[in-house]
Amino acid sequence: MAFKAIRGFKDILPDESPDWVLVEDTARAFFASCGLQEIRTPVLEKTAVFTRGIGEHTDIVEKEMYTFQDRNGDSLSLRPEATAGILRSVIEHKLHANTSVLQLFTMGPMFRHERPQKGRLRQFHQIDVEYLGTDSPLSDAEVIWLAWNIVSYLASGELRLEINSLGCPECRPLHRKDLDIYLQNNGQQLCDDCRRRAKTNPLRVFDCKNQECRKLLLTAPLMKHYLCPGCAQHLGLVLDTLEAFNIPFVQNPYLVRGLDYYVRTTFEIISLELGAQSTVAAGGRYDGLIKDLGGPDIPGVGMAIGVERLLLLLEERQGVEPVDLFVAMLGKDARTELLPFIAELRNRDISVRYSFDDKSLKAQMKAADKAAARFCLIVGQDEIDRDIAILRDMDSKEQREIELDSVVQEVQKLIFHEKDIEP
Ligand code: ATP
Ligand code: MG
Repeated sequence: MAFKAIRGFKDILPDESPDWVLVEDTARAFFASCGLQEIRTPVLEKTAVFTRGIGEHTDIVEKEMYTFQDRNGDSLSLRPEATAGILRSVIEHKLHANTSVLQLFTMGPMFRHERPQKGRLRQFHQIDVEYLGTDSPLSDAEVIWLAWNIVSYLASGELRLEINSLGCPECRPLHRKDLDIYLQNNGQQLCDDCRRRAKTNPLRVFDCKNQECRKLLLTAPLMKHYLCPGCAQHLGLVLDTLEAFNIPFVQNPYLVRGLDYYVRTTFEIISLELGAQSTVAAGGRYDGLIKDLGGPDIPGVGMAIGVERLLLLLEERQGVEPVDLFVAMLGKDARTELLPFIAELRNRDISVRYSFDDKSLKAQMKAADKAAARFCLIVGQDEIDRDIAILRDMDSKEQREIELDSVVQEVQKLIFHEKDIEP
C-alpha cells in the first residue's frame, strides 16, 4: 500500500522550492533593512500557551487547534500561529530585559484543523513579525510597512490595505455595551455561530461571512465612534506615518481580528485576485497580552503573512537553479583524473554534477540536459591518453578541446565570465 500525505498537509516539491526561497529571501532582505532579529520557537507548546495567548473564545482555540495528550498526560498543541510561542519564549528568556524594543521575525509552519480549500490548508506557513516594548504609532506603521512591502514586492494584481482601530480597555467597554444591546435586540436575525459569539465575544460577529449577519451589522454601533482621545490620536498618527511612507490604505470600520487581545491598530492586506481566501497578511497591536502571559507589562504589535496565499500571487515562477557544469566520464582512468578537479571547482563556488554510475556517453549527456547544465566536460579513455578534455557549451552545442591540466582554470574563467563575477 502506498502512503499519501494527510489531508490539508502539502509537500513542497523540488520545482516549487525556488519560489519559497524567493519569498523567504525577499522577506529577510526587508527585515535586515529594518534591523530585525530572527527567533525560532518549537512547533509544539503546552496547550495553555495558546488558550491564554490567543483567547478561549476564538475560532482558533474553539475549533481549529491540533491538541493531544502526550505520553505523560500533558496537553500539547501544534502552534496555530506564531505570536503566543514567541511571547512565551521572550518572557522565559527575559529577552526584553537588555533592550528597549525587540524587533523579531520568524518563518515556519502553522497548524489549524480547518476545511482545506484554495488558500486554506491544515499545515500552512507564515512569515511573522513582532515588535515588543513600544506603543509608539511609528512601530505600528513600520510593521505595516514591512507587510506591505514584502507582499507588494512579490504579488501581482491589486492589493488593498485595510486598517481599523479596536480601541483600548478604556473606550472599548462603552462600545461593547452598546453592541451587546444592539445584538440582543436583533439577535433573532443572526446565524447560529453569531448568536454564540454575541454572548462570548461579540466583536467577532463583525467577522461573519453570512450575508444576513453582514446586513444587520451595517447599522450596528461601530468602534470608530467610541475611540477615546488617546486611541483616536494613535490611529491618526499611524495613518499619517503610512502616508509619509507612501502606502495607500482604506479605513474599514468593520475590520476585527480573530485574537481576543488585539487593541488599537488592526489591519489586513487583501488581494482582489484571490477569491474567498483573500487576506494575504494581517496583524495588529496587543498591548495587554505579554502581561497576561505572565511577563512584564510591555506593549506589542505584530503581523503575519500567509506564505501559500502570497505564492498564489507570485508575479513570476522561479525556475529550478541550473547546474554550472556536468562532467561526463567514461572509464576508471577518467574518474581518477577528473574527481580532484571536480572537488577543486566546487571549492571555487562552481556547481558540478556527474554521473555516479558507469553509464554510456549518451545516458550521461541526457543527465547533463536534465540538470540544465550550462557546460559539459566529456572525458573518456581516448581523451585521457591525449591529456585533453572536451568542453561543450550546452546552449550553442559548440565543442572544443582543452588541456587536461587547465580544466579548472578554463571552466572557472568561462563560468565567472558568464555570471559576471570578477575572478
Ligand atoms: P482567515 O480569515 O483566512 O481564516 P485568519 O484571520 O484566521 O484568516 P490569521 O490568524 O490572521 O488569519 O493569519 C494570518 C494569515 O495567515 C492569513 O491572513 C492568511 O494569509 C494565513 N492563513 C491563516 N490561516 C490559514 C490557513 N488555514 N491556510 C493558509 N493560510 C492561512
Ligand atoms: Mg481563520
